Amino acid sequence: KKPLLEVTNLKQHFPIKGGILGRTVNHVKAVDDISFTIYEGETLSIVGESGCGKSTTGRAILRLDEPTSGSVLFEGQDLLAMSKSQMRDMRKHLQVIFQDPFASLNPRQSVSQILGEALAIQNIVPAGKRRERIIELLGYVGLRPDQIDRFPHEFSGGQRQRIGIARALAMQPKLIICDEAVSALDVSIQAQVLNLLKSLQRQFQLTYLFISHDLGVVRHISDRVMVMYLGKVVEIADKKSLFDNPQHPYTQALLSAIPVPDATKKQERIILRGDVPSPINPPTGCRFHTRCPHAVERCKTEAPALTSLHDTHQVACHLVQ
Ligand code: SF4
Ligand code: MG
Repeated sequence: KKPLLEVTNLKQHFPIKGGILGRTVNHVKAVDDISFTIYEGETLSIVGESGCGKSTTGRAILRLDEPTSGSVLFEGQDLLAMSKSQMRDMRKHLQVIFQDPFASLNPRQSVSQILGEALAIQNIVPAGKRRERIIELLGYVGLRPDQIDRFPHEFSGGQRQRIGIARALAMQPKLIICDEAVSALDVSIQAQVLNLLKSLQRQFQLTYLFISHDLGVVRHISDRVMVMYLGKVVEIADKKSLFDNPQHPYTQALLSAIPVPDATKKQERIILRGDVPSPINPPTGCRFHTRCPHAVERCKTEAPALTSLHDTHQVACHLVQ
Protein backbone atom coordinates (compact mmCIF):
# COMPACT_ATOMS: atom_id res chain seq x y z
CA LYS A 1 0.00 0.00 0.00
CA LYS A 2 1.35 3.35 -1.04
CA PRO A 3 0.56 6.47 1.03
CA LEU A 4 -1.15 9.19 -0.98
CA LEU A 5 -1.63 11.71 1.80
CA GLU A 6 0.32 11.82 5.05
CA VAL A 7 -0.99 14.20 7.67
CA THR A 8 1.38 14.88 10.56
CA ASN A 9 0.74 16.92 13.72
CA LEU A 10 -2.00 18.91 12.04
CA LYS A 11 -3.41 21.73 14.16
CA GLN A 12 -6.18 24.14 13.39
CA HIS A 13 -6.66 26.68 16.15
CA PHE A 14 -9.05 29.48 15.27
CA PRO A 15 -8.40 32.72 17.15
CA ILE A 16 -11.17 34.30 19.20
CA LYS A 17 -10.90 38.07 19.28
CA GLY A 18 -12.09 40.02 22.26
CA GLY A 19 -11.88 43.21 24.28
CA ILE A 20 -11.91 46.73 22.89
CA LEU A 21 -8.60 46.19 21.12
CA GLY A 22 -9.84 43.10 19.33
CA ARG A 23 -6.85 41.08 20.45
CA THR A 24 -6.76 37.33 20.30
CA VAL A 25 -7.98 36.25 23.71
CA ASN A 26 -8.27 32.53 23.14
CA HIS A 27 -8.43 29.82 20.50
CA VAL A 28 -10.94 27.25 19.35
CA LYS A 29 -8.80 24.14 19.17
CA ALA A 30 -10.85 22.63 16.36
CA VAL A 31 -8.16 20.16 15.30
CA ASP A 32 -5.45 19.59 17.83
CA ASP A 33 -2.38 17.72 16.70
CA ILE A 34 -3.60 14.81 14.63
CA SER A 35 -1.67 12.46 12.37
CA PHE A 36 -2.94 9.88 9.89
CA THR A 37 -2.24 8.46 6.44
CA ILE A 38 -4.54 7.86 3.48
CA TYR A 39 -3.39 5.12 1.12
CA GLU A 40 -3.81 5.11 -2.64
CA GLY A 41 -7.16 3.77 -3.81
CA GLU A 42 -8.78 3.45 -0.38
CA THR A 43 -11.68 5.16 1.32
CA LEU A 44 -10.81 6.51 4.74
CA SER A 45 -13.77 7.88 6.65
CA ILE A 46 -13.72 10.39 9.45
CA VAL A 47 -16.62 10.06 11.86
CA GLY A 48 -17.66 11.90 14.98
CA GLU A 49 -20.33 14.28 16.20
CA SER A 50 -20.61 17.80 14.83
CA GLY A 51 -17.81 19.98 16.12
CA CYS A 52 -15.30 17.13 16.52
CA GLY A 53 -13.06 18.59 13.82
CA LYS A 54 -13.80 16.30 10.91
CA SER A 55 -14.80 18.98 8.38
CA THR A 56 -12.08 21.27 9.71
CA THR A 57 -9.56 18.52 8.95
CA GLY A 58 -10.79 18.30 5.34
CA ARG A 59 -10.68 22.06 4.90
CA ALA A 60 -7.21 22.29 6.43
CA ILE A 61 -5.84 19.63 4.06
CA LEU A 62 -7.15 21.64 1.10
CA ARG A 63 -6.05 24.89 2.74
CA LEU A 64 -9.55 26.28 2.39
CA ASP A 65 -8.67 27.53 5.87
CA GLU A 66 -4.94 27.89 6.49
CA PRO A 67 -3.94 25.39 9.19
CA THR A 68 -2.10 26.58 12.28
CA SER A 69 0.71 24.03 11.96
CA GLY A 70 1.65 20.55 10.84
CA SER A 71 2.44 19.00 7.50
CA VAL A 72 0.30 17.42 4.81
CA LEU A 73 2.36 15.41 2.34
CA PHE A 74 0.58 14.69 -0.92
CA GLU A 75 2.68 12.19 -2.90
CA GLY A 76 5.57 13.33 -0.74
CA GLN A 77 5.16 17.08 -1.29
CA ASP A 78 4.11 19.27 1.62
CA LEU A 79 0.92 21.11 0.66
CA LEU A 80 1.27 23.41 3.65
CA ALA A 81 4.70 24.60 2.50
CA MET A 82 3.50 25.48 -1.00
CA SER A 83 2.96 29.00 -2.30
CA LYS A 84 -0.60 30.01 -3.14
CA SER A 85 0.04 29.50 -6.86
CA GLN A 86 1.67 26.08 -6.40
CA MET A 87 -1.32 25.14 -4.28
CA ARG A 88 -3.70 26.26 -7.03
CA ASP A 89 -1.94 23.87 -9.38
CA MET A 90 -2.21 21.05 -6.85
CA ARG A 91 -5.94 21.62 -6.29
CA LYS A 92 -6.90 19.70 -9.41
CA HIS A 93 -5.52 16.57 -7.80
CA LEU A 94 -7.56 17.16 -4.64
CA GLN A 95 -11.23 17.81 -5.20
CA VAL A 96 -14.05 18.25 -2.72
CA ILE A 97 -17.74 17.44 -2.76
CA PHE A 98 -19.89 19.18 -0.17
CA GLN A 99 -23.18 18.31 1.46
CA ASP A 100 -25.34 20.82 -0.36
CA PRO A 101 -24.78 20.62 -4.10
CA PHE A 102 -27.21 23.46 -4.67
CA ALA A 103 -25.05 25.86 -2.68
CA SER A 104 -21.89 24.86 -4.53
CA LEU A 105 -23.40 25.09 -8.05
CA ASN A 106 -23.95 28.50 -9.59
CA PRO A 107 -27.73 28.66 -10.27
CA ARG A 108 -27.17 30.90 -13.30
CA GLN A 109 -24.87 28.41 -15.01
CA SER A 110 -26.05 25.46 -17.06
CA VAL A 111 -24.44 22.06 -16.58
CA SER A 112 -22.34 22.63 -19.69
CA GLN A 113 -21.09 25.94 -18.27
CA ILE A 114 -20.38 24.46 -14.83
CA LEU A 115 -18.41 21.54 -16.24
CA GLY A 116 -16.92 23.70 -19.02
CA GLU A 117 -15.46 26.00 -16.40
CA ALA A 118 -13.83 23.07 -14.60
CA LEU A 119 -12.39 21.82 -17.90
CA ALA A 120 -11.05 25.30 -18.68
CA ILE A 121 -9.20 25.35 -15.34
CA GLN A 122 -7.93 21.84 -15.80
CA ASN A 123 -6.91 22.79 -19.34
CA ILE A 124 -6.11 19.39 -20.82
CA VAL A 125 -9.11 19.07 -23.12
CA PRO A 126 -8.92 21.61 -26.00
CA ALA A 127 -11.83 24.08 -26.14
CA GLY A 128 -13.30 22.49 -29.27
CA LYS A 129 -13.52 19.08 -27.61
CA ARG A 130 -15.04 20.23 -24.32
CA ARG A 131 -18.69 19.64 -25.12
CA GLU A 132 -17.92 16.07 -26.09
CA ARG A 133 -15.96 15.61 -22.86
CA ILE A 134 -18.83 17.08 -20.81
CA ILE A 135 -21.23 14.54 -22.30
CA GLU A 136 -18.75 11.81 -21.41
CA LEU A 137 -18.55 13.13 -17.81
CA LEU A 138 -22.35 13.20 -17.56
CA GLY A 139 -22.37 9.58 -18.66
CA TYR A 140 -19.93 8.59 -15.91
CA VAL A 141 -22.29 9.96 -13.26
CA GLY A 142 -25.49 8.58 -14.82
CA LEU A 143 -26.87 11.75 -16.41
CA ARG A 144 -28.10 11.99 -20.00
CA PRO A 145 -26.52 14.00 -22.84
CA ASP A 146 -29.78 15.91 -23.35
CA GLN A 147 -29.48 17.28 -19.78
CA ILE A 148 -26.34 19.22 -20.70
CA ASP A 149 -28.00 22.62 -21.14
CA ARG A 150 -30.19 22.43 -18.05
CA PHE A 151 -29.74 24.50 -14.92
CA PRO A 152 -29.24 23.22 -11.36
CA HIS A 153 -32.83 23.96 -10.27
CA GLU A 154 -34.10 21.60 -12.97
CA PHE A 155 -32.48 18.64 -11.22
CA SER A 156 -33.32 16.65 -8.10
CA GLY A 157 -30.99 16.72 -5.08
CA GLY A 158 -29.41 13.41 -6.06
CA GLN A 159 -28.88 14.59 -9.64
CA ARG A 160 -27.31 17.81 -8.43
CA GLN A 161 -24.90 15.80 -6.35
CA ARG A 162 -24.07 13.84 -9.51
CA ILE A 163 -23.25 17.14 -11.24
CA GLY A 164 -20.97 17.99 -8.31
CA ILE A 165 -19.26 14.62 -8.73
CA ALA A 166 -18.89 15.19 -12.49
CA ARG A 167 -17.33 18.57 -11.82
CA ALA A 168 -14.82 16.96 -9.46
CA LEU A 169 -14.08 14.23 -12.03
CA ALA A 170 -13.49 16.85 -14.73
CA MET A 171 -10.28 17.75 -12.90
CA GLN A 172 -9.01 14.16 -13.06
CA PRO A 173 -8.31 14.19 -9.32
CA LYS A 174 -6.46 11.57 -7.28
CA LEU A 175 -8.12 12.40 -3.98
CA ILE A 176 -11.72 13.46 -3.46
CA ILE A 177 -12.79 14.74 -0.07
CA CYS A 178 -16.50 14.05 0.40
CA ASP A 179 -17.81 16.21 3.24
CA GLU A 180 -21.26 14.91 4.25
CA ALA A 181 -21.70 14.35 0.51
CA VAL A 182 -24.86 12.25 0.84
CA SER A 183 -26.18 13.59 4.16
CA ALA A 184 -28.84 15.82 2.60
CA LEU A 185 -30.23 13.07 0.37
CA ASP A 186 -33.08 10.61 0.98
CA VAL A 187 -31.90 7.21 2.14
CA SER A 188 -32.73 5.46 -1.15
CA ILE A 189 -30.87 8.14 -3.15
CA GLN A 190 -27.96 7.97 -0.68
CA ALA A 191 -27.36 4.34 -1.57
CA GLN A 192 -27.34 5.15 -5.29
CA VAL A 193 -24.84 7.96 -4.91
CA LEU A 194 -22.62 5.84 -2.61
CA ASN A 195 -22.65 3.03 -5.17
CA LEU A 196 -21.79 5.52 -7.90
CA LEU A 197 -18.85 6.80 -5.83
CA LYS A 198 -17.65 3.24 -5.33
CA SER A 199 -17.80 2.35 -9.00
CA LEU A 200 -16.06 5.59 -10.01
CA GLN A 201 -13.36 4.79 -7.46
CA ARG A 202 -12.63 1.49 -9.23
CA GLN A 203 -12.90 3.02 -12.69
CA PHE A 204 -10.58 5.98 -12.05
CA GLN A 205 -8.39 4.71 -9.17
CA LEU A 206 -9.75 7.41 -6.89
CA THR A 207 -8.92 7.79 -3.23
CA TYR A 208 -11.60 9.14 -0.91
CA LEU A 209 -11.52 10.95 2.38
CA PHE A 210 -15.12 10.51 3.41
CA ILE A 211 -16.38 12.79 6.17
CA SER A 212 -19.69 11.83 7.73
CA HIS A 213 -21.58 11.77 11.01
CA ASP A 214 -23.64 8.83 9.71
CA LEU A 215 -22.20 5.46 10.72
CA GLY A 216 -24.52 3.55 8.41
CA VAL A 217 -23.15 5.44 5.42
CA VAL A 218 -19.60 5.04 6.69
CA ARG A 219 -20.08 1.32 7.06
CA HIS A 220 -21.23 1.14 3.44
CA ILE A 221 -18.38 3.06 1.83
CA SER A 222 -15.21 2.78 3.97
CA ASP A 223 -12.11 0.66 3.93
CA ARG A 224 -10.85 2.26 7.13
CA VAL A 225 -12.48 4.50 9.69
CA MET A 226 -11.06 7.22 11.90
CA VAL A 227 -13.06 8.41 14.90
CA MET A 228 -12.58 11.95 16.17
CA TYR A 229 -13.62 13.52 19.45
CA LEU A 230 -13.01 17.16 20.35
CA GLY A 231 -10.25 17.75 17.84
CA LYS A 232 -8.41 14.48 18.52
CA VAL A 233 -8.23 11.10 16.81
CA VAL A 234 -9.41 8.53 19.36
CA GLU A 235 -9.44 5.42 17.19
CA ILE A 236 -8.49 4.43 13.66
CA ALA A 237 -8.99 0.96 12.24
CA ASP A 238 -9.99 -1.10 9.25
CA LYS A 239 -13.76 -1.13 8.93
CA LYS A 240 -14.26 -4.67 10.16
CA SER A 241 -12.19 -4.24 13.33
CA LEU A 242 -13.83 -0.94 14.08
CA PHE A 243 -17.39 -2.15 13.73
CA ASP A 244 -16.88 -5.65 15.15
CA ASN A 245 -14.41 -4.82 17.86
CA PRO A 246 -14.48 -1.13 18.81
CA GLN A 247 -11.97 -0.42 21.56
CA HIS A 248 -12.36 3.20 22.51
CA PRO A 249 -15.24 3.91 24.92
CA TYR A 250 -16.36 6.80 22.71
CA THR A 251 -16.45 4.60 19.59
CA GLN A 252 -18.37 1.98 21.58
CA ALA A 253 -20.96 4.59 22.55
CA LEU A 254 -21.29 5.87 18.97
CA LEU A 255 -21.76 2.36 17.61
CA SER A 256 -24.25 1.40 20.30
CA ALA A 257 -26.56 4.08 18.94
CA ILE A 258 -26.94 2.49 15.50
CA PRO A 259 -29.73 -0.05 15.13
CA VAL A 260 -28.57 -3.65 14.63
CA PRO A 261 -30.37 -5.50 11.86
CA ASP A 262 -29.97 -8.82 13.69
CA ALA A 263 -32.39 -8.65 16.65
CA THR A 264 -30.76 -11.60 18.45
CA LYS A 265 -27.56 -9.56 18.82
CA LYS A 266 -29.33 -6.88 20.80
CA GLN A 267 -26.89 -4.45 22.31
CA GLU A 268 -27.26 -2.00 25.14
CA ARG A 269 -27.34 1.60 24.06
CA ILE A 270 -24.53 3.40 25.86
CA ILE A 271 -25.78 6.82 26.96
CA LEU A 272 -22.98 9.28 27.61
CA ARG A 273 -23.41 11.77 30.41
CA GLY A 274 -23.18 15.49 29.72
CA ASP A 275 -22.46 17.32 26.49
CA VAL A 276 -19.34 17.61 24.39
CA PRO A 277 -17.14 20.14 26.25
CA SER A 278 -15.99 23.35 24.58
CA PRO A 279 -13.04 23.11 22.19
CA ILE A 280 -11.84 26.46 23.59
CA ASN A 281 -10.79 24.94 26.91
CA PRO A 282 -10.95 21.20 26.33
CA PRO A 283 -10.61 18.88 29.35
CA THR A 284 -7.08 18.06 30.51
CA GLY A 285 -5.69 14.57 30.11
CA CYS A 286 -7.98 12.43 28.00
CA ARG A 287 -10.48 14.82 26.45
CA PHE A 288 -13.18 12.23 26.84
CA HIS A 289 -12.73 11.78 30.60
CA THR A 290 -15.65 14.04 31.58
CA ARG A 291 -18.04 11.69 29.78
CA CYS A 292 -16.28 8.35 29.76
CA PRO A 293 -18.01 5.51 31.65
CA HIS A 294 -14.61 3.89 32.33
CA ALA A 295 -12.50 6.90 33.33
CA VAL A 296 -9.89 6.39 36.06
CA GLU A 297 -7.88 9.00 37.97
CA ARG A 298 -5.01 8.96 35.49
CA CYS A 299 -7.35 9.94 32.64
CA LYS A 300 -7.80 13.42 34.13
CA THR A 301 -4.16 14.35 33.86
CA GLU A 302 -2.49 12.17 31.28
CA ALA A 303 -3.42 12.34 27.59
CA PRO A 304 -3.43 8.85 26.06
CA ALA A 305 -1.30 8.45 22.94
CA LEU A 306 -2.60 6.69 19.86
CA THR A 307 -1.13 3.19 20.17
CA SER A 308 -1.29 0.15 17.92
CA LEU A 309 -3.42 -2.79 18.90
CA HIS A 310 -2.36 -4.53 15.71
CA ASP A 311 -1.18 -3.21 12.35
CA THR A 312 -4.57 -1.95 11.23
CA HIS A 313 -6.02 -0.80 14.54
CA GLN A 314 -4.90 2.10 16.72
CA VAL A 315 -6.57 3.44 19.85
CA ALA A 316 -5.95 6.33 22.23
CA CYS A 317 -7.14 5.07 25.63
CA HIS A 318 -5.24 4.20 28.83
CA LEU A 319 -7.34 1.11 29.37
CA VAL A 320 -6.47 -0.44 26.00
CA GLN A 321 -3.01 -1.94 25.69
FE1 SF4 B 1 -11.97 6.79 29.07
FE2 SF4 B 1 -9.63 7.09 30.26
FE3 SF4 B 1 -9.79 5.73 28.01
FE4 SF4 B 1 -10.09 8.35 28.03
S1 SF4 B 1 -8.24 7.24 28.54
S2 SF4 B 1 -11.33 6.90 26.94
S3 SF4 B 1 -11.17 8.67 29.93
S4 SF4 B 1 -10.72 5.19 29.96
MG1 MG C 1 -19.10 19.20 9.20
